[in-house]
Amino acid sequence: MTSREKILLPLRTSAPSAEPLPADLPAPAADGTRALADRFGRVARDLRVSLTDRCNLRCTYCMPAEGLDWMPTEQTLNDDEMIRMITVAVEKLGIRQIRFTGGEPLLRKSLEKIIAATKELTTDEGKPVGTAMTTNGMGLARRAQKLADAGLDRVNISLDTLDPELYARLTRRDRLKDAVAAIDAAIEAGLTPVKVNAVVMPGVNEGSITELARFALQKGAQLRFIEQMPLGPPEQWERAQMVTAQDILDELATEFEMTPAEEPRGSAPAALWDVTDLTDDSVTGQLGVIASVSHPFCGDCDRSRLTTDGAIRNCLFSNSETSLRDLMRAGASDDELAEKWAGAMWVKKPGHGIDDVGFLQPDRPMSAIGG
Ligand code: SAM
Ligand code: SF4
Repeated sequence: MTSREKILLPLRTSAPSAEPLPADLPAPAADGTRALADRFGRVARDLRVSLTDRCNLRCTYCMPAEGLDWMPTEQTLNDDEMIRMITVAVEKLGIRQIRFTGGEPLLRKSLEKIIAATKELTTDEGKPVGTAMTTNGMGLARRAQKLADAGLDRVNISLDTLDPELYARLTRRDRLKDAVAAIDAAIEAGLTPVKVNAVVMPGVNEGSITELARFALQKGAQLRFIEQMPLGPPEQWERAQMVTAQDILDELATEFEMTPAEEPRGSAPAALWDVTDLTDDSVTGQLGVIASVSHPFCGDCDRSRLTTDGAIRNCLFSNSETSLRDLMRAGASDDELAEKWAGAMWVKKPGHGIDDVGFLQPDRPMSAIGG
């Protein structure tokens, strides 16, 4: 058996796109800037940057037990290339918020350097760019203050259960303590509001929902329950079996009073709820539920994605992408990169189509796209 045959989710690294620019792509402004708009009137202001496809956990909804075929280093963007792409996004394309993700972004040794370079950029509104990171938290306790000092504004930490044995089964690593320590350290370092991401899998961690909610409220962290999406090993997801946002809300309502939050949701994926613990009314706060599958929010999506090998994806679920890496390595100017990026976003589809009969899971797994 070759090593590729062992892999459940074959990883296709992106080839430079030979696609011509869309004929109806709007021209840039006189100063060369343009918005990352699409044909349906959406404008991307939020960029997800995947800093690596590697990870030190093996969450069952995301990766097979043996991991994936990591991308060779020469195919991935080095620090200067990564910083150049981020600079183009902010200075030429109207991006205002950058979220670093992966794989596990803490595995990128130069994370602080990339954050510091990002934080120096100024948006089209004349403000410093917003910086956030989604992380599993392994090792964050040691690094949280350094990251805050480098210019990181806030973090989302993934934590799907508080049961040590179940955490070890779900992530295939016995590291619950590190995840909890990460939340404490992030709060201590002021990387706030600290958000906690919990994916709910049928028959696995449904029993953890109320315990996680109480834990987050008591810590002053914002918990977001996420519907599991078809982006990991295919046998781990089945539409008919998935735990929906409604199932999560029903479970929460057994122990919490829940009122829809008043603030407008805008492009945020989470529907927010003001909650009070029915057993102790001093425990209050907000919880979010991200219903990506059962109630998609594609109409309000304001995201663009840059993979660690330099491809632009206009949707998590897209089956095509536009590689800018080789164009950049062949000497393209910032304006040429911006034009190609704008072309990739202009053709974004109206929705992810998970419920369409012909839905095909993308070749790239979640860990190589950047969640
Ligand atoms: N390793 C980091 C982490 O786990 O936070 C960042 C990358 S991870 C791909 C980003 C987020 O995607 C995490 O919150 C994770 O729980 C979520 N995620 C991964 N696979 C998912 C799936 N199949 N459905 C829904 N969310 C998923
Ligand atoms: Fe790693 Fe994050 Fe995927 Fe878990 S969800 S395997 S921590 S990339």
